[in-house]
Formats: sequence, structure tokens, C-alpha cells
Amino acid sequence: MVEAVWNISPQTLWQQGIRSLILDLDNTLVDWNQEHLRPEVEAWTRECRKVGLSLCICTNAQRKDRIRRIASSIGACYLARAGKPVAKAWRRALWLLRCRPEQAAVVGDQVFTDIWGANRFGIMTILVKPLSDRDFFATKVPRLFEKRLLASWQAKGRSFQPHL
Ligand SMILES: [Mg+2]
Repeated sequence: MVEAVWNISPQTLWQQGIRSLILDLDNTLVDWNQEHLRPEVEAWTRECRKVGLSLCICTNAQRKDRIRRIASSIGACYLARAGKPVAKAWRRALWLLRCRPEQAAVVGDQVFTDIWGANRFGIMTILVKPLSDRDFFATKVPRLFEKRLLASWQAKGRSFQPHL
């Protein structure tokens, strides 16, 4: 668990044997439903690629044109309407990246969509705080459960780290 993507060290991931990143889009790389990449995010993706990490945007979002433009601007492949947290989403992303589960890491802002499913699939996961407090309407209910879960983790001493 780390505050934001730009606080994740690509070098550290590489040293841990990670070769590919499967990235959530909304509220992880961009504010919800936006296209503009914050300079910190852009710089971080450049750093990732410099280190040698392959990137894949894996999102449940529908609008392909927006996703394609963002993916091409950061040199990533993409999977729209991925169907996370279902295993098919991770399998397809790994296939696009030509990567084994143990060499990939998933980065996302939602416990039940990004983290839970990918962990079950055997992929390392990194939870980040959402970039904005705006969400898809169907995300509002899972967020309530997520809030309670995060509070219980925090009580056990697990919380968001400033850096990874
Ligand atoms: Mg998200």
C-alpha cells in the first residue's frame, strides 16, 4: 500500500524480478474519467519504461478512444472493458505483456476490483490512494466496504506507506 503511483520505485520493482506492470486507469493514473495525466504520473511512467518495465493499462472503463490515447502517450498496451476482478482480465493482460504472473505487479486504487482478484491470480499487487474523490456510480457501494476494511487494516498497523 503506497500513497500514489509516483511514490513507487520502478528500480525496486525491477530488482524484485518484476518485469511488467498492469495499471488501473481511473483514479490510479488519471482522475476519474479524465484524460489529462498529471506531470508526476507522466514522469513516473517514463521512469518505468527507462528501467525496462512493460506497461499495460487494464481498465473496466468503456470509452476505447480515451483509453487508447492515454495508453499510446505513455507507451503502454491496453485492455478496455477488462472485466476486473475476474481472472480473464489478468490472463488477457499477461498475454498482451507476454509475462508470467510472478513477473507482474498490478497497481490500482480499488481493493475489490484491482487487488483482490489479482492476488487470487497470484500477481503481486500495490494499492494506491484514489487520485480524486469522484467515482463511477457503481463504485460507491464497494467503496463503503473498502473504507471499513482499510480502517480495520490500519488498526492492525497496516497503512499506506509514503514510498515503495
Ligand atoms: Mg480505479
